[in-house]
Amino acid sequence: SKREGFSTIPDTTWADVGALEDVRKKLEMSIIGPIKDPDLFTRVGIKPSAGILLWGPPGCGKTLVAKAVANESKANFISIKGPELLNKYVGESERAVRQLFSRAKSSAPCILFFDEMDALVPRRDDSLSDASARVVNTLLTELDGTGDRSGIYVIGATNRPDMIDEAIRRPGRLGTSIYVGLPSAEDRVDILKTLYRNSMEVEVDRPDTAATGADLEKVALDLRCTGFSGADLGNLMQAAAQACLERAYVAKQRLARKE
Ligand code: ATP
Repeated sequence: SKREGFSTIPDTTWADVGALEDVRKKLEMSIIGPIKDPDLFTRVGIKPSAGILLWGPPGCGKTLVAKAVANESKANFISIKGPELLNKYVGESERAVRQLFSRAKSSAPCILFFDEMDALVPRRDDSLSDASARVVNTLLTELDGTGDRSGIYVIGATNRPDMIDEAIRRPGRLGTSIYVGLPSAEDRVDILKTLYRNSMEVEVDRPDTAATGADLEKVALDLRCTGFSGADLGNLMQAAAQACLERAYVAKQRLARKE
């Protein structure tokens, strides 16, 4: 039974994602395929994983692709930041984790997206408190009850895979790790065009629009954009749009005064 208005299929599609072709292909085989065609993917006899782990530097599209996966799979999407489940009274965090999985179950098919997973599932070493260790154990238990036709798929995201408890990456749990890295120069061109097309609601290279593909290429390939993430390119574009707006406003005011 699906509760309305509870969680929804995201609007984000692959058209909103620039570059990341390899990431998309891997997601296709590891999560979209199993959701869309479970018979094929279970026939090979391996126990399907509860989900996957996306890792890499901030702002490079982990959240974006997780949403596109949900959209393409026609799955509901529940997003939660690791730290949101912590800092509760003793025992409350475990309950919150269990509640989250049962919410996901009632919205199946559902993608449960854990951002900042390292905060939620830190390595269980000597320095870890008993309370945190219990949260890790609860999550592992929930993951073990997931997968295999439960209709829940977990996508974890982290900038610090080395900080995550290794047990989470066992087969059957988040068995596949996919690296989502900084874009190359060519990737930056594709990302900037994607961002421009979507935010300006125009077709790049149409004569009546402001920027041409060549303009965007020049910016994205500029050495000063070396090391920029997708989020950085988004900020750059917003700043440029703001500057254009200000210039247009000043020019218009000046004209009005002359009249
Ligand atoms: P964090 O680790 O900080 O959570 P993240 O990897 O999840 O970061 P996103 O939240 O997906 O990053 O990306 C932030 C924003 O940057 C997106 O909303 C989008 O505007 C832009 N962006 C990042 N990567 C891409 C991309 N490959 N194509 C288009 N836009 C992108």
